[in-house]
Parts: sequence; structure tokens; C-alpha cells
Amino acid sequence: MNYRHAYHAGNFADVMKHATLVLALEHLKLKEKPFFFLDTHAGTGETDLSGIEAQKTGEYRDGIARILKHPAPHEALAPYLNALMALGCSGENPTRYPGSPLIATQLARAGDRLAACELHPEDAAELRAVFQHDRQMKVHETDGYGALKAMLPPKERRGLVLIDPPYEGRDEFDRVEAALHEAVKRWAGGTYMIWYPVKDPSVSGAFLDRLENNGPAKTMIAELYIRGSQDPTRLSGSGLVIVNPPWTFPETLTSLFNWLAEILAQGPGARGRVEWLQK
Ligand code: SAM
Repeated sequence: MNYRHAYHAGNFADVMKHATLVLALEHLKLKEKPFFFLDTHAGTGETDLSGIEAQKTGEYRDGIARILKHPAPHEALAPYLNALMALGCSGENPTRYPGSPLIATQLARAGDRLAACELHPEDAAELRAVFQHDRQMKVHETDGYGALKAMLPPKERRGLVLIDPPYEGRDEFDRVEAALHEAVKRWAGGTYMIWYPVKDPSVSGAFLDRLENNGPAKTMIAELYIRGSQDPTRLSGSGLVIVNPPWTFPETLTSLFNWLAEILAQGPGARGRVEWLQK
């Protein structure tokens, strides 16, 4: 496990993933009944953007920093930007960027329940430290795929699972697909969000084809390309597979991802793509 999210924190992929995560959590909060949130690949919880890793790549400068500098961000970003501000990420030169578990706890209400899994021992220790005084978020140093089996279905019977692996190994798309099938068998009513990178579009495309032919019902994708996909060794975009999305998502994410593509473009061919795999 060599992947360290600190190099990428706050980049375009974090922006699209976290903005969508916040919208999904806001949707869950429309009903009073408590929800369960599971983050299977949680990371460290927070990144110091002035640290060596973030400064080495500077990826956040073409991600969250561009959004924070924009005079009129897309209206669907409001709850995400409010959460970031409450967590100390604001202004034109942000010095920290929160990870998915911290963003989720910021959104959660008193009765909601949250769990975060992180397998890397150092990252898990950092994550534990972030949540040491938080009684609502349970941090587990464990395999997130195993947690899907151990923790689903949740007693609340409503909620969201974020599956955000590092895709270091060639088999990660297969692992994600198998884990999703297994999870949906246990809990068909949950909302699942799976992040994936787009480098070689034939690899992510094959994954999506399999889900289109053999995946769960009510599954959509939302992809953000920051450039065209001519070079398959380079990240050209990233996507989210969303199972049981809020009913507002097709329209909201189409508008939001088109806007993000314009603002976060790093070359010709930037675009958003939102469509159903299975209705
Ligand atoms: N979800 C985080 C966020 O949005 O802020 C970022 C997570 S990062 C992309 C992926 C994380 O998964 C890394 O911190 C890595 O150490 C961890 N990881 C890798 N394999 C894992 C596994 N099998 N179970 C749990 N965590 C794993």
C-alpha cells in the first residue's frame, strides 16, 4: 500500500466526489429518521495543504483553490463550501483540506451513525487522532471491503456507503464490482457511491459496461473530465457510480458537472457526463 492521499487532497477528483457526497447526505437529512454512513476507504481525515506532499504536486491549486477563488460558484456547491468553511478550509489560499469522513461528520445530525475504515496503519492512526473526541464516528483499522460484509445492512435501514479505493492494483475495479454485488445483496435499499479514476477510458469503460449489463438497478454515473483522454497513462478525469441516487441527482449533477468541467479544465476535451447505467 503505497498510495497516500495527501498528494491529491483537494484536487479536481476530491471536489467532484466531496461535493456529490455532501449533496447525498443533505438529501438523507430531508427525513428525520437517522442514517448510517460508511466510508470504506477513509484516508487520514484531513490534509495540511502546506505540507510536503500537497506542495509537491500542488494538485489542490487546480482543484478546490480554483473553486474558492471563483466569484460565483455553482449553487449546488453551497452546502459543500459551507461544510469546508466550517472545517477551516476557505479563502483564496486554503491551508487545510478535510477528507470524506470529516466532511460527513460535519453534515451528520446527533442521531446519525458513522463508520470509517482505513487499512494503512499510519493513516488509520492519523484518522483515529482526528476523531479522538468524536463519539459519533467509529474508526476501524480494517479492510473496507470486509466491512461491507460486517456492517451491512445497518440497523437504521437508510444511509450511504462511500467506496473510494486507491486503484493501486490492476484488480481494484474487479474488487469493487464484486464488493458492490455482495453489498447490494445484503442491503438493496442503501445508496452507494463508488469513485473511480479515468485514465485509459477502455478500462473504466469495461467496468461500466459490466455494471450496465449485470449491475444493480437504479445506477447512474457522473463523470468529470478535466482534459481529453488521448494519453492513457495520465488521469483525464474521474467518475462516480451511484446506486440508488437521490431523485434530484440526474438534473443537479448534469448542471454541476458541466460547470465544474468549465472551471476545473486543464486542457481541451474537459466535460461532464451524467447518465443512467440502469434505471
Ligand atoms: N475517502 C478519502 C477522501 O475522500 O478523503 C480518500 C481515500 S484514499 C482515495 C484511499 C484510502 O484507502 C487510502 O488512505 C488507503 O490507505 C486506503 N486503503 C487502501 N486499501 C484499503 C482497504 N482494503 N481497506 C481500507 N482502506 C484501504
